[in-house]
Parts: sequence; C-alpha cells; structure tokens
Amino acid sequence: MFWEKYTYSQIKSKVFESLSKNANYRTENILGIPGTFLDSEIFYDDASFLKDAPFLSTLIANPNHIGVHTLGDKHEDFFAGTHEIEKDLIKICAEEIFSAEPYSYDGYVASGGTEANIEALWIHRNFYIQEYKVHTNDIAVVYSSDTHYSIPKGIDLLSLKGIEIDVNQTTREILIKDFEQKIEAALKNGIKYFIVNVNMSTTMFGSVDDIDKITSFLNLLHINYKVHVDGAYGGFIYPFINKNNSFNFSNKNISSFSIDGHKMLQAPYGTRIFLIRKEYMKYVCTNEAGYVKGKDYTLCGSRSGANAVCVWMILRVHGSVGWTVKMHQLVDRASFICEKLDELGIKYYRHPDLNIVTINANYMSLDLATKYHLVPDSHDEKPNWYKIVVMPHVKQGIIDNFLSEIKNEQYSKIN
Ligand SMILES: *Cc1c(COP(=O)(O)O)cnc(C)c1O
Repeated sequence: MFWEKYTYSQIKSKVFESLSKNANYRTENILGIPGTFLDSEIFYDDASFLKDAPFLSTLIANPNHIGVHTLGDKHEDFFAGTHEIEKDLIKICAEEIFSAEPYSYDGYVASGGTEANIEALWIHRNFYIQEYKVHTNDIAVVYSSDTHYSIPKGIDLLSLKGIEIDVNQTTREILIKDFEQKIEAALKNGIKYFIVNVNMSTTMFGSVDDIDKITSFLNLLHINYKVHVDGAYGGFIYPFINKNNSFNFSNKNISSFSIDGHKMLQAPYGTRIFLIRKEYMKYVCTNEAGYVKGKDYTLCGSRSGANAVCVWMILRVHGSVGWTVKMHQLVDRASFICEKLDELGIKYYRHPDLNIVTINANYMSLDLATKYHLVPDSHDEKPNWYKIVVMPHVKQGIIDNFLSEIKNEQYSKIN
C-alpha cells in the first residue's frame, strides 16, 4: 500500500490545472448544459482568497461528475479535468488500499454509504436477474443483526428477501451455526442466489465480520453468492491498522466495497466511495439516460465534482504513510480508554483494530452518557450499550475527564 504525499502547493496547482481543463461557464460558449456556476450573489468568484482555495474554487465552478468515469471515454467531457482527479482517487482506493489489479475495477464517489450499499445490492440483484433469468423472489440478502440500516432499506426498495443472522452478544461475531442453518433453510425454500453483506466494521461496535468463515461455508456448498463489503465506517481505518486481512480484491470471493469518506476521512458529507470489479456496472446501466453522454450507472445522478476533489486532496496531503500514522493515533487513544476501563472492571466491546469503544450500559448512568454525548444502541428502549467513537476531536483531556467521572460513579456504587 503506497500513495505519494503531495505538498499543499502541489495539490493546489494540480486542482487548478484540472479546473482549467473543465468547461468554464464564465468564459466559454456553453448553451446546452442545464447547469451553471453557483449563484454569484452568494458565491462571488472574485474573492481574493479563492486563488489559494482549490476546494472552494471547485465548488464555485460547480463541475458535474454525473456518471462513472472509470468506464472509459464514454462519459461527459465538459468536466474532463476534474474527472481525472476522481479517477486518481478511485485508483488509490482500489489499487493501493484494496489491492486491485490496474483496470480491473470501476468506482465513483457516491452521496453516502446508504447509496453505495444500495448500489451494490442493485447491481448484484440485476446480475442474477439478467444472467440467470430469475426473479427477485429467488434472491436473498444475508446480513448480521449488527448491520447498518441501509441494508434493510435497500432490501425494501429492491423487493429482495432479507435473512438476518444473529451475533454473539459479547463478541459481536456472527453465529456461524445460525448462518449455516438459515442458509440451508433458504435453500430448502427455493432461494438459490445470495448477496452477502460483510461488515468491515459495524457502526455501533466496530466489529468486523469473519469473512473467511462465511465464504468457506458458501464455497463448500457450491452456493451462488456475491459478497459486498460494507466499509462505510471502517474503510479508511481497518486496512491501515491490520495490514494482513482478507478484505481486498485479491480475495476472489469479494465483489464490491463501499468505503467511508465522510466519517473517518473527515471529508464533507456526500463523499462515500463505491468500488466494484469490472464488468458489473453494466447491470445497472440506465439506457433511458439519453441526454447524458455515456449513460448513467449510479443511483444519485448529478453529483458535485468538488466532493471528489476534496477526498483526493485529503488523501494526497497525508500520503499513505501519514494517513497510517493518523489512524494509529486514534486506535492508540481507544486502547488507552480500554486499559482504564479494565482497571475499573467496566465491561465493554472493542475490536483491537478500530477506534470504537462500546460500553455496557449497566456500568454507566444516563446522566454521564448524556453529558458526554455517548450514543446508545437504542433511543426507544432502555439501552444495552453506549459507544465512544474516538474521532480526531476526542482529545486526551476530554477522555481523562470522562474516565475520572466514570471512576467516581463506580466508587460511589460500591460505597
Ligand atoms: C454510516 C454507515 C453507513 C451509511 O452511511 P451514510 O453515509 O450515512 O449513508 C453504512 N454502513 C456503515 C457500516 C456505516 O457506519
């Protein structure tokens, strides 16, 4: 895994160079596009700071990144300059983070993890429908009970069957017996095709599903399945901490990934990344998108080029080495919290390669959880868990304050 770190002035000149290759609504004869620059009463383009602000300049120029640019030349060329930046971003993610061979994948910057996950379900559903001539009733989506709600949302939208697998309440691991039984029951009920969502970190716990156990069972039974990896939380942290893992494109069992941009990566909202092996995007080509050159393959349609540019800028300003250091700092801080909780005898769940510490609710008062804005697993019923997510704003000082208050609560309980 390696991508080069650029200095801020290198980044700036690359972004401005790519903007200069885009069509410019201010200076060129552009009569046909239903787009324009941003409203100039609010977004005036003569502000002097803009020449040093590549992201804001891209935002104001307002390039549309509609479509999927890794598919070759068949896409809109008005904004070819910033499309190249998006392609470099997708290349870094696919080839450097997830070990894809060059040109063996497609991808784009989606509006969110929800879109990227639904895109994956949509593609794999249509793959089965088109290649095997089956109905939606014959296809089921398999996911653990700790899975993000975007998967059940997608199952609903796409009229698929859902199979939820139980997890061990302490280790948060998928119960393999339950998995095997439910797959066998589904086979008996005539379901022959499976889309399996595997979490490369769940949202509530930071737990990582055991992909090898899951796929070896499916391979053993010669089951028709496709694996989508939901890395919408862990995509930019887990692979940097645990370098020898099975979550990459050299694992033949994996078909697609959704990965975080607007969580760990600290990019503005609207920046999840969707990656899939080549030859799959075609299953969701909307041929009716007649006015879009190269057609559309995404759920969202038009999307801001500024989103792709800023994710690229973040990855480039750190480089792979800097990003790894940054992620280790968060994980170390999470480990520090765990050491202190151990000393106090407080029960919690934590995956060693992630920055989430999920505390058993019996060990904490509602007041304390509320004071520190810990997030419960349920807002409707009495929570079982409260989680701490060690993001960059969670500094040692606030951690120390929290730990000393939870310690006082423990002592006053005993006395
Ligand atoms: C946050 C999250 C999502 C959804 O992402 P949005 O960008 O909010 O749509 C999906 N999966 C996981 C694991 C997440 O943590």
